[in-house]
Amino acid sequence: MDYSFFHIAQILGGTPLVRHDTLITRLLTDSRSLVYTDETLFFALRSSSNDGHRYVRDLYHRGVRNFVVSDFLPEFSALKEANFLTVPDTLVALQQLAAFHRNHFALPVVGITGSNGKTIVKEWLSQLLHIDYNTVRSPRSYNSQIGVPLSVWQLNEQHTLALFEAGISQKGEIERLEHIIRPTIGILTNIGQAHQENFNSLIEKCQEKLQLFTNSEWLISCKDQKLVEQCIEESGLSCHRFTWGYSESADLQIQNIEKAGKSTSIRCIHNDQAYQYTIPFIDDASVENSMHCLATWILLEEIMGGKRIVPAILTGRMNKLEPVAMRLEVKEGRNGCLVINDSYNADINSLSIALDFLRRQAKDKQMDRTLILSDILQSGEKSEILYTRIAQLVKDSNIQRFIGIGDEISQHASRFDTTTSSFYETTEEFLQSETWKKWKNEVILLKGSRKFHFEFLSEQLESVAHQTILEVNLGALVHNFNYFRSKLRPETRIVSMVKAFAYGSGAVEVARTLQQQHCNYLAVAVADEGVELRREGITIPIMVMNPEANSFNLLFEYQLEPEIYSLNLLNLFIRSASRQGITHYPIHVKIDSGMHRLGFGETDLSELLSLLSSNDHVHVQSVFSHLAGADETRFDDFTHQQAAVFSKCAEQIEQACGYPVLKHILNSAGIERFSEYQFDMVRLGIGHYGISAINSPEIENVCTLKTTVLQVRHVKAGETVGYSRRGVLTRDSVIAVLPIGYADGYDRRFGNGVGKVWINGKTAPVVGTVCMDVTMIDVTGLDVHEGDSALIFGDQLPLAEVAASIGTISYEILTNVSRRVKRVYFQE
Ligand SMILES: *Cc1c(COP(=O)(O)O)cnc(C)c1O
Repeated sequence: MDYSFFHIAQILGGTPLVRHDTLITRLLTDSRSLVYTDETLFFALRSSSNDGHRYVRDLYHRGVRNFVVSDFLPEFSALKEANFLTVPDTLVALQQLAAFHRNHFALPVVGITGSNGKTIVKEWLSQLLHIDYNTVRSPRSYNSQIGVPLSVWQLNEQHTLALFEAGISQKGEIERLEHIIRPTIGILTNIGQAHQENFNSLIEKCQEKLQLFTNSEWLISCKDQKLVEQCIEESGLSCHRFTWGYSESADLQIQNIEKAGKSTSIRCIHNDQAYQYTIPFIDDASVENSMHCLATWILLEEIMGGKRIVPAILTGRMNKLEPVAMRLEVKEGRNGCLVINDSYNADINSLSIALDFLRRQAKDKQMDRTLILSDILQSGEKSEILYTRIAQLVKDSNIQRFIGIGDEISQHASRFDTTTSSFYETTEEFLQSETWKKWKNEVILLKGSRKFHFEFLSEQLESVAHQTILEVNLGALVHNFNYFRSKLRPETRIVSMVKAFAYGSGAVEVARTLQQQHCNYLAVAVADEGVELRREGITIPIMVMNPEANSFNLLFEYQLEPEIYSLNLLNLFIRSASRQGITHYPIHVKIDSGMHRLGFGETDLSELLSLLSSNDHVHVQSVFSHLAGADETRFDDFTHQQAAVFSKCAEQIEQACGYPVLKHILNSAGIERFSEYQFDMVRLGIGHYGISAINSPEIENVCTLKTTVLQVRHVKAGETVGYSRRGVLTRDSVIAVLPIGYADGYDRRFGNGVGKVWINGKTAPVVGTVCMDVTMIDVTGLDVHEGDSALIFGDQLPLAEVAASIGTISYEILTNVSRRVKRVYFQE
């Protein structure tokens, strides 16, 4: 299917403005992902938190010429060579286009939905079937209202099987996805609590999801899930059913499941035909996922295709199923390198997503880009075509150094830029070459099929492994940022507070992520923190909350904007600016509206006003104040009073200045509870990390503190554990030793049973006192072994509860995690 801009305009309706009709092959919805400008159509999408119309002009200057918008803004008139299509709703248009595209293909389309396992079932089906079919599938977990149309757009005439997943978080969404995917075979994986907040009950959510199969021929599900069964019966769906489970009435009936060591053997039967296979996993979810895959396979081959699955092929492929890595992790490497290890299947779609991630990381840091790539999973395409496309992708992504590892990719070496590329037959050969030891300050992306064992590579490239780490989920951070943004008017600006090493999570990575999210301002506590951000390539405005007089020159040099909270400080700053001949330097004036920490009081106001109106060395960029109790209802009257005092002072200052001045008073709790006081800007801090003053279920955990069991020992009743013999054992116990102590930020108050650690799916109490570098926990009966992972806080042990258990607040727990604990960042 070829589309021209004009053709698309006809399909979508709306008002076209066509200057030069061109071919369209690529759809773009996120301006940051731009690689190719040719044949690209940008959809300017609007959400509660962002607006694609803002990026049209920038994209035009970078070479994009085709746009779908919902508002033709006056500034677009200057973009003389661009084609525009104006439609009422750009997201609807994107979905319409994908639905139109889908309707041109008659291949089997597997549509997967459910609460858990969607991505894994899809990926495993692809691992099992890509030899027999030319498959197309959703990249990673592209299952949203935007992800699904982009996935379906990849469909072309060569494909013989499509695997798409659909995820929903609220009512009404699935119907739109149904029009786009039109699955011929549906899979409902299961129904659980995920994304429950917008549904009244599990039944309601299940019924909603079932609508994906309104026009399907077949529906695959697990017969043992009573709720799902009941919903399907009541749904009135007319498709054929294919079920699996222990139940006697299941079409594919499980007869035996046996777990041994690291694998599970499964025996089941369909129409008197027995199937037996082993998967290299032991968790129940993997068994369930594999059954969905087998059911789909039987349906495609035996029921719809009329040929039996060969037992040896079944055993062979099931045995080789690979875990699906869902995240892209960035780790610090040797010599200032960053290492991105993407062990997700090595195929061309996930490669282009990973390259996009690589480009963004490298661009912010202005570092060189290196890609190490193994042979790629065949996609049914001829290898000449595949590697020509990959070579092009590598070129377009401005990779400064390319390493190909494997027989096949080596055979195609001539397709790659010879000056920057080198090839090795095996991973060992590359490791032995030792060339990588000299690499400095590069971002290195590792992308390898599992059999190439790139984990040996990443071990070498990463710096020394620490046993205690703070994991920071940047995806969740962005999610929370957008949650708070959705509480505000679209034009209200956001200052992200990244003081104190971004609440312990690492200022540079967090700032970089927020800068990409178009946050307007950052705020740090002291000048040095701001200097570090500038050196790391942060370009958005930065406010310094506690500027010291001896740091003013640093402020000027690095474009950092001080908070000014007293007449004395203002006088010093003006003097310093005037000595350097600086005029109109942006400052932020702090009002004390009742917190009585820093700030100008009402009595200082007249002198402040006359100073401001009588000199031109400073420019009041904003005036602000801080709430003392925005998170507690008992202080609500006081909060209103603070807002009133602030509002009055801010107006007087603005008048004295004679120009508009940004005003702000809300912190995280304030945004959730007093959005009426958002003025022009707000200051978001702890909210980034998933702490909500109204306990919103929409928020996600960001930081996870983890450690690893160093040693396990059996200690008899009556013995004691640790210093001062405080941990007295009343029974024979098993004690695990963890490499985390108060020097890592694990507070001594957690000692003697107060603190709990999450290990092997249960909590285990701290025994005895917390030492400087080590803590002991009681794991009696928990089957804990050396090397097991233990969680200090995170999803299963919420930060707020951990803090409350020792009478403190999340802020203190987070900022106490010491700098020696390595921060590991990832994005879902
Ligand atoms: C730290 C800080 C904030 C952010 O507060 P949260 O409660 O973390 O949202 C806002 N304003 C000022 C002045 C701060 O110092």
